[in-house]
Amino acid sequence: MAELLKGKPVVEAMARDLELRVARLHEHNVNPTLAIVRVGQRPDDLSYERTALKRAESLGIDVRSMVLNETACTEELATVIDAINKEVTIHGCLLFRPLPPSIDENAICDLLSPEKDIDGITRASLASIFVGQGAGFAPATAAAVMRMLDYYEVPLHGAHVVVVGRSLVIGKPVAQLLLARHATVTMCHSRTADLAELMRGADIVVCATGRARGYGKECFSAGQVVIDVGINFDGEGNMCGDVDFATVEPVVGAITPVPGGIGSVTTSTTMAHVVEAAERAIGLS
Ligand code: NDP
Repeated sequence: MAELLKGKPVVEAMARDLELRVARLHEHNVNPTLAIVRVGQRPDDLSYERTALKRAESLGIDVRSMVLNETACTEELATVIDAINKEVTIHGCLLFRPLPPSIDENAICDLLSPEKDIDGITRASLASIFVGQGAGFAPATAAAVMRMLDYYEVPLHGAHVVVVGRSLVIGKPVAQLLLARHATVTMCHSRTADLAELMRGADIVVCATGRARGYGKECFSAGQVVIDVGINFDGEGNMCGDVDFATVEPVVGAITPVPGGIGSVTTSTTMAHVVEAAERAIGLS
């Protein structure tokens, strides 16, 4: 039986820390504030917005939701982002993506001030992960993977980590964050040869591909730590990860469940970035 790396204790530990930090910000007359920018009514966005609102409220973080019609153009959204950049009482911005095709997503992302880019969407934020310093934050999911590993005290120094998936929101940034912690990282993707063999040879496997239960026990070996970032739905509508939990869990040393793993830690990490942005804004961090 593998150790279950559940998100709940990580979320609870983060909440204890964040409540103290929010109280300290209140003492400085600062209400940490998140702007949520949504274009249209995509069910995924609405669901994440509800979760974020609940988590923010429980931590004492204010949220301002800004909603545009799905027919909005690049200029309209640019005006909203510009207003957020200028508004000193807003510390972080969460922009739901993908944006409708009528909007130039790259142009919009780069308009956001890196100081308020709590989800690592600007090129400046991504560059700061590579350089190891800068104003932005890592994408919340990539940062959540690191929080999960740290909470469960998984040794990273010298560990061989195979990251499956190379998107800008998860695979690439998480690989850089792991490198910065002295892990040896192998990046894999859809054209990787002998993927199962590479995965079996790792100490830690991070799966972020979006393939529902796409990786079975043939890809894993005894004692490994498996971080399943995937949030997928099977043919019956059940949420599942990228890893076939039922066959892999008996084989490996530790594994994150889906649901109940990285997903909830991601929401808390977003809130942690808002609090840190507010602290930075008044020189507390
Ligand atoms: P993308 O579609 O942007 O990227 C998927 C990556 O997986 C690509 O790099 C792709 O390779 C790789 N891939 C696809 N098929 C294979 C394969 N057969 N073998 C190896 N690699 C493969 O997805 P995201 O990064 O946005 O999301 C990945 C997963 O994470 C999804 O399930 C998503 O729902 C979930 N997610 C979870 C979050 C959380 O909070 N837990 C937050 C955000 C996303 P290539 O580049 O070659 O095409």
